Amino acid sequence: MTTVIGFIGLGHMGGPMAANLAAAGHRVRGFDLVPEALATATAAGVEATGSAREAAAGADVVITMLPAGRHVLALYQDEGLLAAARPGTLFVDCSTIDVTDARAAHAATTAAGHRALDAPVSGGVVGAEAATLTFMAGGGEAEFHEAEPLLAAMGKRAVHCGGAGAGQAAKICNNMILGISMIAVSEAFVLGESLGLSHQALYDVASTASGQCWALTANCPVPGPVPTSPANRDYRPGFAAPLMAKDLGLAANALRAGGIDAGLGLRAAEMYTAFAEGSGAAQDFSGIVHALRAAAEA
Ligand code: NAD
Repeated sequence: MTTVIGFIGLGHMGGPMAANLAAAGHRVRGFDLVPEALATATAAGVEATGSAREAAAGADVVITMLPAGRHVLALYQDEGLLAAARPGTLFVDCSTIDVTDARAAHAATTAAGHRALDAPVSGGVVGAEAATLTFMAGGGEAEFHEAEPLLAAMGKRAVHCGGAGAGQAAKICNNMILGISMIAVSEAFVLGESLGLSHQALYDVASTASGQCWALTANCPVPGPVPTSPANRDYRPGFAAPLMAKDLGLAANALRAGGIDAGLGLRAAEMYTAFAEGSGAAQDFSGIVHALRAAAEA
């Protein structure tokens, strides 16, 4: 069935996601503040509109893919997106935002007579282009099932994680595991180096023993053992360090809000922020091995 979709935020992620919805036969009415982003999406089958409100008017589903929670809340409320949509419209926010902002967006959406789903993604720009993203969704069962065919056109997997904000919660918890485990793997390589252990020997043992994890076997932070990992191409992302810093910042916000003293999660957020603001600004997050090696040698 053809769905009329208003798609707002046609950047690195939103552009190819909107294009995949159009390629699946849906009518996609898009908007972005940046004219070049709108033009690229238009060339890929998205209908250009003159404003976010215009994109939302008459849509069955409104999808947003924006930088942060403040953009989503400002667009929904101050910029009148909720007011522009017809009653009962399903709002699907795929941006990665604070859990509290996601819950506020749900509340504002339902108060305006609409329905809401938070559905952040993992898989990066490559996944957005290839329609292989994983969606983590929060909201009602009915809303999730209604969105499922659209999520299937943009990704390979969608998990319903619970009520409002549960998708964002799942995303930051997963990325907290990833961020901490990359630091653990990197510190182990630095320790191994100081003990005269080759990268390959440590990899051969840990990759088939209890140290096995994605940070080691898919995104190995040292060149050599896993030829496809970013370390073998000068740490070109991959998953960029600033995005890891952002996601761990969201995890740290949630930890503080909940009064949870998770020492490693909070420390990892600080470490990726420092790395992303310095030498890691354009690197894959696994490049943090350099910062850890430098700190060990200081
Ligand atoms: P991006 O900056 O490329 O795209 C965001 C777009 O939103 C921009 O084109 C911007 O002009 C537009 N925008 C902002 N405010 C707007 C408004 N009021 N109206 C219309 N358009 C507006 O960012 P991105 O890399 O596409 O990331 C989008 C979201 O996806 C972020 O929340 C990010 O954390 C998340 N995410 C990104 C990746 C990735 O690898 N890039 C991976 C997973 C999740």
